[in-house]
Order: sequence, then C-alpha cells, then structure tokens
Amino acid sequence: MKIPDKIQQRDDYKACASFHGHVCMGLTIGYLASKLAIKLLKEKRADDEELFCITETDACCCDAIQVLTGCTFGKGNLIYRDIGKMAFTFGSRSTGEGVRLVLRPDISGVPEKEQFLAQKIRVAKASSEEISEYEKLYETRSEALFDKGPEAFFTVEDMKIPSPSKARMAPSKMCDICGEAVMETKLTSINSLNYCRACRD
Ligand SMILES: [Zn+2]
Ligand SMILES: [Zn+2]
Repeated sequence: MKIPDKIQQRDDYKACASFHGHVCMGLTIGYLASKLAIKLLKEKRADDEELFCITETDACCCDAIQVLTGCTFGKGNLIYRDIGKMAFTFGSRSTGEGVRLVLRPDISGVPEKEQFLAQKIRVAKASSEEISEYEKLYETRSEALFDKGPEAFFTVEDMKIPSPSKARMAPSKMCDICGEAVMETKLTSINSLNYCRACRD
C-alpha cells in the first residue's frame, strides 16, 4: 500500500511520523483508527483520561494512537492486551460509548494483474513499461482506498463499555530483597518478606 502524499502532508500525520520516527503502514493504520474513533465517539484528544484505548497489538500503530487520541502509556489510558490482532477498542468515559475497530483482512489483498507484474519485477524480468504499469496500478489502488476514508479500513462494532479504572497511584514500600522502593500493590509477601516482581522471578 502506498500512503498518498496528501495524507503524509497533513500536520497531524506529520506529528505522528515525527513522534514515531518513520512513515510506515502500521503508523498509518493507527492514524486512521484514531481519526475514526474520535469522529464516531464525538470526542477530541484526551488531555487527561477522558478517552481510553485498549489495543490488541503493540505495533507501530500505537504511536499514532498516543499522539492523536491522547491515550498514552504514561497516563495509563492506553491498555495493551497481547492478543496479536489489529484491533482497537476506544471508549469515552463521559458517555460510556465505545467502538471496537478491526482492520479488514481484505485490505492487503492484491489483484492478480498486480501480483503478476510484481512477481516479474522481483525476478528482474519486467520491461520498463511493465514496471510503470505496476506502479500505476499500485498507486491507483492505494489512492482509491484512502479516498474512501478511514471507514474503508475497519469494521466497526459499537459497544457500551464499563471504563477501566483510572490509573492508580499507591504509596511506595521497600522490597526486602533488593532494597529498592516499589509501588506497594506490586509487592508479594513470602514468609513475611516483601518481594518485588524482579526479585521474585
Ligand atoms: Zn513504523
Ligand atoms: Zn526487589
């Protein structure tokens, strides 16, 4: 998929790319998911924890989500579930409304003609006409898809969601093994000694 210049030139896209460090399709998927979620939930970027996101992948897309929606790892309103799906659930704490966006599997499907030309290019058997024909097909297909907007990329499931608890702060206590301060709720007591997770494992 070619990311059209008109997308790459948007200020909000540039902000994502600058935070992430490079332009890639993963970042773009996160960008599109964020735009769609904000639109569907009628929200804006969360300064605090007004929005939250449960992501089922830890790939490049999460960086665009952090920049655009304000759901960040540091604030605790970006929650990672290690499921390995390109799926993102966004929720609004004020309305209780949520949406789960799942990347459509057919998005990366390549038409036969394009596959045929790509293969010829790969084995260096393509003429210059075929190379430019391939590029044209590839670019036209990408443009057409992006022109449909973020809706074309995801299936949308509406849901009411109980919002996850806000980021909790707990006082620190010493680990009896390493002597370092640890958030109290993360300690385990074994034979009346407090173990941090690093010392316990
Ligand atoms: Zn990336
Ligand atoms: Zn320790």
